[in-house]
Amino acid sequence: MSKVQEVDAVVVGAGFAGMYMQYRLLDEGLSVQGFETGDNVGGTWYWNRYPGARCDVESMDYSYQFSDDLQQEWEWSERYAPQPEILTYASHVADKFKLRDNIKFNTRVKQALFDETLNKWRVTTDQGDEVIATYCIMATGCLSSTNLPKFDGLDSFEGDWYHTGLWPHAGVDFTGKRVAVVGTGSSAIQSIPVIAEQAGHLTVFQRTANFSIPAHNGPLAPEYIAQVKGNYAQIRAENNDTAVGFGARWASNDDSVFDADEDERKRMFEETWARGGFQFMSAFGDLGLNTDANEIAANFVREKIRGIVKDAKTAELLSPKQVLGCKRLCVDTGYFETFNRDNVELVNVKDHPIERITPKGLVTNGEEHSFDIIVFATGFDAMTGSLLSIDTRGRDGLKLKDKWEAGPRTFLGLQTHGFPNLFTISGPGSPSVLTNMIVSIEQHVNWIARCILYMRMNSKQVIEADLEAENEWVEHTNDLGNGTLYPSCNSWYLGANIPGKPRVFMPYVGGFQVYSQKCEEIANTGYRGFDMR
Ligand code: FAD
Ligand code: NAP
Repeated sequence: MSKVQEVDAVVVGAGFAGMYMQYRLLDEGLSVQGFETGDNVGGTWYWNRYPGARCDVESMDYSYQFSDDLQQEWEWSERYAPQPEILTYASHVADKFKLRDNIKFNTRVKQALFDETLNKWRVTTDQGDEVIATYCIMATGCLSSTNLPKFDGLDSFEGDWYHTGLWPHAGVDFTGKRVAVVGTGSSAIQSIPVIAEQAGHLTVFQRTANFSIPAHNGPLAPEYIAQVKGNYAQIRAENNDTAVGFGARWASNDDSVFDADEDERKRMFEETWARGGFQFMSAFGDLGLNTDANEIAANFVREKIRGIVKDAKTAELLSPKQVLGCKRLCVDTGYFETFNRDNVELVNVKDHPIERITPKGLVTNGEEHSFDIIVFATGFDAMTGSLLSIDTRGRDGLKLKDKWEAGPRTFLGLQTHGFPNLFTISGPGSPSVLTNMIVSIEQHVNWIARCILYMRMNSKQVIEADLEAENEWVEHTNDLGNGTLYPSCNSWYLGANIPGKPRVFMPYVGGFQVYSQKCEEIANTGYRGFDMR
C-alpha cells in the first residue's frame, strides 16, 4: 500500500470532464490527484473504438471553448469527427495543458468515504492508493459503464465477442467472418455499415427499431472552418444560449407543423433531412412536445426508410413504432442502405428474445445462428452506473447507492445532500446527455471551480446541498420530464434498459440556457440552496 497522500482535490475520470476540471483547479493553484481506469485520457473516445465511431454533434461545436488558442489551432477534418481524431484531440489538450502529470492511469477508484472528523474525503483505489482530499469530484461519465445483458452461455462461445464500449485497441478484423451485431442503438447504427463492408456475412439482432437521420458527413471546407474560427466567440455565446448547447446558427422553425399545409410540411422535412443530423428536429417547433405533431415527422422518416430499403418486410421491421426522439435520435452514414446488401440480414428479437449463447453462436426462436464474432452494441448503465459502482459514503456512513435506491436525487445535478464537498460533473438532474456534452461539462466545471475559489476566499470548509432545495429540484426535474414525450418509451434516459433500475427520467429537460442561468444566479446570491459552513 502506498503512503496516504493529502491533496486539495481528487478528480475521478480523465475524459473531457476530468481533464478540464484538472486544468481549472491546477490553474487556481490547488493540489489535485486524478485517477483513471484507462491507460490514457479521452474517456468515451478512449473506450469506444468500434468501427464507424464518431461524434453526432458537429466537430466545430463538439470541442472545448475555454481556450481560444486551442480552438484556433485545432483543425477538424470532417463535419462529424471520427473517434481516432477526437482521441488525438483529447491527447493534444492533455499535452498542451500538461494534464497527465497529476493523473494516475490504470487505476480505478473503489471507495470514497467522507471523514467527519477531518471534513475530508478518503479515496481508495484498486492499486492500493489512499488519498485524503477536501473535495472529491466525480468526472466518471454518463455513458461509461457498459451494459452487457446476462446471456446464459456467453463463456462457452468459441468465437470472439466484443462490447462496442470496451473495444480492443488493436482493432478487430472482420474480413470474411460470420458476424452478429446485437442491438440497434447509436453504436450499432454507426458500426453496422462499416462491419458489413468487411464481413463475410452480418446478422443484426434488433429488439427495437430506431429512428436515424443521415449525417451527410464529409470533409470540412477550409472556408467554412475559417468562417467559424473568425466568429468563434460569438458562435459559442449563441450556442450557450440554446436549450442544447449547439445549433444556434441553424435555420430553425418555431412554427407548429399544424400551421403548415402538406406542401410546406414536405418542403421543411425534406430540407432538414437534407441538412442532416439533429437539424431534422428543428423542422417545426412542436415535434418534441405534441404526439400528433411528432407522428407526422415520424411518418416522414418511416416513408424514407421504405424508400431506401428494397425488401418491404425488412423495411417494415426497421421502421420504428415509438415517438421520434423518445430514444436518443441516431445519426448515420448509410445505415438503412446496408440492409440492401446481399451479406446482411435482420433478425427481429422483440417477440423471440435471444435465449442463450452457445459454443457456436446464439439461439433465438428455437433456432441456432452460428458466428465467428459477436458484437454487443447493448449500451450503458447510463448516468448513474459509474457513480454507483464506487462505494461512496457520506455523513453518518450514508451510502450513495442506498440514498439513490429509488432513483438519483441531486440539487442541480451538482451535489447530493448528505455528501459534503462531493461534486458530480454532468450528474443526473442536469441537462448533460440532452445537450452538446462538452458545453455542459465546461459549464459544470466552471461552476465548481468558482465555488471552490469562493470557499477558499471566504474560509468555508464545507458545502452541501440543502435537503429542501434538493427535494424541490428533483420534483421540478420530474415534472418537466413528465411534461414531455420522453417517458412514453423505454430508453436509457429512464434507466429502462437495465433490469431492476428505477424508472426515473434522469436528465434535466428544461434547457441548457435556463439551467445555466439558474446555476449562475445561485452562485451570485451566495450559493442559495447550499449549506456552506
Ligand atoms: P467520459 O468520457 O465517459 O469519461 C469518464 C472517465 O471516467 C472514463 O475514462 C472512465 O474510465 C473513468 N472512470 C469512471 N469510473 C472510474 C473510477 N471508479 N475510477 C477511475 N476512473 C473512472 N456527446 C455529445 O455531446 N456529442 C457526441 O457526439 C457524443 N458522441 C458519443 C459517442 C459515444 C460512442 C458515446 C458512448 C458517447 C457520446 N457522447 C456524445 C457522450 C460522451 O460521453 C460525452 O460527450 C463526453 O465525452 C463525456 O465526457 P466525460 O469526461 O464526462 O465522461
Ligand atoms: P443504446 O442506445 O442503449 O442501444 C443499445 C441497443 O442494444 C438497443 O437497440 C437495445 O434494444 C439493444 N439491446 C440491449 N439489450 C438487449 C438484449 N438483451 N437483446 C437484444 N437487444 C438488446 O446504446 P448505444 O447504442 O451504445 O448508445 C448509447 C448512447 O451513447 C447513445 O444514445 C448516444 O447518446 C451515445 N452514442 C452516441 C453516438 C454518436 O452518434 N455520436 C454513438 C454511440 C453512442 P432496446 O432498444 O430494445 O433496449
